[in-house]
Parts: sequence; C-alpha cells; structure tokens
Amino acid sequence: MSAPIRAIISDLDGVVWRGEEPIPEAVETLRAWSGRGVPLAFVTNNSAHSAEDFAGILNRLGIAVAPSHVITPIEALKSLLRERHAGARVYVIGGAALALAVVEAGGTVVQDAQADLVVLGTDYELSYTKLRCATNALLNGATLIATNPDLLSPVEDGFEPCVGALVALFTAAVPGTTPVILGKPQPALLEAAMTLLGAQREETVMIGDQVSTDIRAAAAAGIRGFRITTNPRHVAQADDPLHEVIDRLAEIRPV
Ligand SMILES: [Mg+2]
Repeated sequence: MSAPIRAIISDLDGVVWRGEEPIPEAVETLRAWSGRGVPLAFVTNNSAHSAEDFAGILNRLGIAVAPSHVITPIEALKSLLRERHAGARVYVIGGAALALAVVEAGGTVVQDAQADLVVLGTDYELSYTKLRCATNALLNGATLIATNPDLLSPVEDGFEPCVGALVALFTAAVPGTTPVILGKPQPALLEAAMTLLGAQREETVMIGDQVSTDIRAAAAAGIRGFRITTNPRHVAQADDPLHEVIDRLAEIRPV
C-alpha cells in the first residue's frame, strides 16, 4: 500500500504541452489540482525560457503557480557559476534567458573562442558559426556545461534534437571533453522542488514522459515516478528504475 499523494512535481515538455501546443487533459487536471491547493511544482530541463516565463504560460492556462515553483537548469547554472566559476568568460549556445543567467551570476558572455566555459541550451538561432566558435573554445580547453542530456524534445509535429544531441556533437568533435550535466537525471532540481513544497519524500511524486531523465531523477531523489505515455518512442530498458505508467494525469489521485 503506497502512502497517500500529498505533493506533485511535474515535468513540462511532453506532459503539459508538446512544443507550443497544450495537452488538454493534462492542463485540465493540473488546473483542478492547483484549484484545490495541492502542493505543485514544475521541474523542466528546458532552458529556453526563464522560470518567470514558464510560470506566466502556466498561469495563462489556468494553472496557478509562482515562478519560484518552476525549477529550470538556469538556477542550477547560476549556482555552479557562482560557486565554481566566478567571473568566467562564457560562450553561450542557447537563448536570451541563458545568457542573462550567466550575467546575473557574475560571468561575462563572450563571442569568441577565448572562453573558459561553453554553456549549451536550446538555441533556435543555432548556426555553423556558433558551432565553430564553441568547438574552438573546447579545443582551447574550455569546460563544457550542458543544461540537460536529452537527445529529443517533443514538439507539435514530432521531435526536435535537444541539448544532449549537441553534447554528442561536441564530444565527437573534441574527444576528451567531459560535459557537466545540470538538469534531470541529476536529482538536484527535484530536491529543490521538494524543499519548496515541504512535503515528505514518500508522499511526493514526480510525473514525466522520459525514463532517462524524469524517472531516473525521481529514483535518484527517492520519490515515486509516474511516466505518462505521451512519448510513443519510449523503449523499455532492462535497467529502467521501477516506476508507474499512466495514460492520463487524472489517474493520479492526490489527497
Ligand atoms: Mg518531458
């Protein structure tokens, strides 16, 4: 008999929406949970937007959540820069939110290969020039930091390559590069969410669409993992952590 569910941590991409398109059943269920005050936090590997932006989108969908309860790799990046790379020169492949985070953490965003760090996120203006510059920075000894290890992101009409695919590109081009990975499956973002929610580990669940990130992070954080079957590409692996599988969010019944 499992403990009652009192707090929910959910992924965003592939659970709440695909690309820009909300998933109606998920939105309806999350709206109902937020409406009756179920402690709710979101943990995403997506660094294309800030927590404020994501909270804005969720609130417009009727899911009441504060920016503090949306946890992205951007906060993890800021902590890492402050603690280990104070004043670093950083080459960013990623969106404006990622570049802003570097500046807020005291780093300098540079446009050349004389960088101490190369930071990777989703970049909808990715160009060969950017790939070349980052490659040269890595050849010059820069450290590679990736916001997440995901290979694919679900979008409206299928999938797009995610940050992990860029990591694969750079580790192939510059052998010996060891990336630092910030997002799930590292449990740090989930631990931060649990602290915010103030819930007991056994009464908290993590909902996600990816075993390699969401479910592994849940297992690493010691909480129950629910995989929603919105990702038709999932192929079970022998070493998948134990988790529960649901077709609809409403199958989860928080008290
Ligand atoms: Mg996802």
